[in-house]
Amino acid sequence: MRFRTKQIHSGVSPDPTTGAILTPIHQSTTFVQPSVDEYMATGFTYSRSGNPTVRALENKLTALAGGVDTASFATGMAAINAVFMTFLDAGAHAVISDVAYGGTYRLSSQVYTRFGVEFSYVDTSDPAAVAASLRNDTQLILTETPANPTLKLTDIAAISDIARDRGIPHAVDNTFLTPYYQRPLDLGADMSIHSTTKYLDGHNATVGGAVVMADADHAERIRFIQNSTGTIMSPFVAWLTLQGTKTLSERMDRQSATAMKVAEFLEAHPGVAKVVYPGLESFPQHELAKTQATGFGAMLWFEVVGVEAGKRLMSSLDVWTLAENLGSVESLATHPVTMTHAAIPAAERKRVGITDGLVRLSVGIEDEQDLIDDLARALDQI
Ligand code: PLP
Repeated sequence: MRFRTKQIHSGVSPDPTTGAILTPIHQSTTFVQPSVDEYMATGFTYSRSGNPTVRALENKLTALAGGVDTASFATGMAAINAVFMTFLDAGAHAVISDVAYGGTYRLSSQVYTRFGVEFSYVDTSDPAAVAASLRNDTQLILTETPANPTLKLTDIAAISDIARDRGIPHAVDNTFLTPYYQRPLDLGADMSIHSTTKYLDGHNATVGGAVVMADADHAERIRFIQNSTGTIMSPFVAWLTLQGTKTLSERMDRQSATAMKVAEFLEAHPGVAKVVYPGLESFPQHELAKTQATGFGAMLWFEVVGVEAGKRLMSSLDVWTLAENLGSVESLATHPVTMTHAAIPAAERKRVGITDGLVRLSVGIEDEQDLIDDLARALDQI
């Protein structure tokens, strides 16, 4: 089956008791056992350990990302936390992309360091830098590509080769492109992490996360943490995410096509100092964007001249909404320095290119001309 068919049919089947075409929301804490030493054939016992609606989403994501299993979580951060908790011993070392979502930076630098874990924030777009940063006690490599918010790319196959040679698991945060445009497991990564809050849900309706795994042993270990920490996704969130996932390809194709138009408009505008979008020829890693993924995605960023001008621009937008999420049908504008990446110290932000004037855009499915007209009007006002 091809992706568009899988996104509709994988993981789900009509309910055998009622014929309902949609997987029901199995809002049940517990599941009966025939006797003390017998379980139902379904294997479900208690919804912290597994739930039929949640499992349907997990099975769909496994099929879409080409893994052996998926564990889903209450949020994307809970998914990343589960990966840390599974692979990192107290006092160990891990390598993380130097540009990553602010929450990933916060979790690593402010929580796991309390347990003596050391993190190297490395420019993972440079495989030699990754190889040089590895130590005998390195237990995990976590890359984020495209990175939030700079969109810097990491060559997944190159880093996976290095990781495999050293026997270190490589997890890729694939939130920005989803399995529709980028399949890290096919490129040799061990895990593909998703904040399902973004494109997989796609409607600003939920927060959730998932880790798709290529290795059965990793899957068992991550599921153990999912159960032990009680961070599984809820049945209702799984159900909403299941519905969102069915239109993933349609939304992403539309959103990405509009993102290209918006990027071209901004690049031609005299009031814009810089535009960064992987689909533009001017994008420094445009070739890698074309070979590693099948689409450029719907995230872009730009800078106007001066931080004050940037702030004025953002409050003059009407069709674009100033808000923190990304990947939904509503187009959103974000100021990472004060919003999504505020947890990263200013000097570190500066070092990795998260400038004060950076305006991040998440392109939705509104009419492209309305989005461009709104930006044009706001740019005129500054
Ligand atoms: N990974 C990336 C790339 C993100 O952008 C985010 C959130 O913005 C997360 C992980 C965390 O996901 P959540 O907000 O669902 O916890």
